[in-house]
Amino acid sequence: MRVLLAFAALFAIALCKETFKGNQVLRVVPKDYVQLSLVKGLEDKSEFELDFWRDATEVDTPVDVRVPFFSLQSVKMYLESQGIEYSTIIEDLQVMLDMEQEEMDSAARVAEPRNTDNFDFSRYHTINEIYSFQDMLVAENPNLVSKLVIGQSYQGRPLNVLKFSTGGANRPAIWIDTGIHSREWVTQASGTWFAKKIVTDYGRDPALTAILNKMDIFLEIVTNPDGFYFTHNNNRMWRKTRSPNPGSNCVGVDPNRNWDAGFGGAGASGNPCSETYRGPRAHSESEVRSIVDFVKSHGNFKAFVSIHAYSQMLLYPYGYTNTPVKDQAELHALAKKAITDLASLYGTRYRYGSIINTIYQASGGTIDWTYNQGIKYSYTFELRDTGRYGFILPANQIIPTARETWLALMTIMDHTFKNPY
Ligand SMILES: [Zn+2]
Repeated sequence: MRVLLAFAALFAIALCKETFKGNQVLRVVPKDYVQLSLVKGLEDKSEFELDFWRDATEVDTPVDVRVPFFSLQSVKMYLESQGIEYSTIIEDLQVMLDMEQEEMDSAARVAEPRNTDNFDFSRYHTINEIYSFQDMLVAENPNLVSKLVIGQSYQGRPLNVLKFSTGGANRPAIWIDTGIHSREWVTQASGTWFAKKIVTDYGRDPALTAILNKMDIFLEIVTNPDGFYFTHNNNRMWRKTRSPNPGSNCVGVDPNRNWDAGFGGAGASGNPCSETYRGPRAHSESEVRSIVDFVKSHGNFKAFVSIHAYSQMLLYPYGYTNTPVKDQAELHALAKKAITDLASLYGTRYRYGSIINTIYQASGGTIDWTYNQGIKYSYTFELRDTGRYGFILPANQIIPTARETWLALMTIMDHTFKNPY
């Protein structure tokens, strides 16, 4: 009976899970401005149902795009007819997803961890596993870690934030979030590792200990829980929130275009079907609104780090305007130091700079809003890799990614600690 039930459950999941059989990810490199505008124009050809993993930004910069099987021939013919070069970086996305799922299933057959020492950080985990990890961490470290629920997702899931604090009232604080784009799985996995790292290193690592003796760290691991649940159970490629859009069949808002900083400007879409849909109004998404309310009512954040994947970049504001931030020189120098420290472990190379100069104009982004709130040390990471696997980063890269990123985070946190303002 139990076997039957298990089969029924598997069958049900298989039925409603979107397949990416025959989908390819192409890397297109526009050689001149004509090609660049043609590639950008592809974003508006909705009949192809393309999913841009890395958007078109400038000449000689790769664009990664997932092409559904049904439009593969047309897209390739179009590129060839225009003389635009491309290569196939993922031959069949579903083959990679099946491998990823198989690894998760084999991990799930091992008994559930009873404490965070037995938690397998080298695997991807479901939302329930991460939520129970958080509760175990709090139970094991009651004097250092607590869990705050800062709100609810659209579908009613708790928005959990881990608070690392050694006491004091409303100390200056550092914010870290992962997974605001749900398909960027290495970020939630790294966030889980960071949480364990903080409790392990407090009292051992002098730099972190000094920071935590004066400041609090807030960490939101599953920042877009509805989207994350959806990536596990329905569509691995889901990026946005899961709130409905009245008048449209398309679901969800891009929570990194929904902030009240240049909201509605260039680099965000007004089309609910777009992956970069900004939403009906600024802070319309409860996942965003809850952070806004929390940051405002706390009032003492000094650093704010929002973690994405992929493409290996460390970015600071602005995204919505060309006007440099007034702390540009300091933020640039600190970014350089952080990526140098990151590279010292495995040689992983990052690019760095302001969002608008390094990737593209993007309006309504998280760290533009936090910077405008007076949080000087506002940064966004784009973690590994540069496109070999993209969002489907193999699980054996989780710990190396988290470890190297931690070095950069420590550099930013240490600088924040040593340069009070
Ligand atoms: Zn992202």
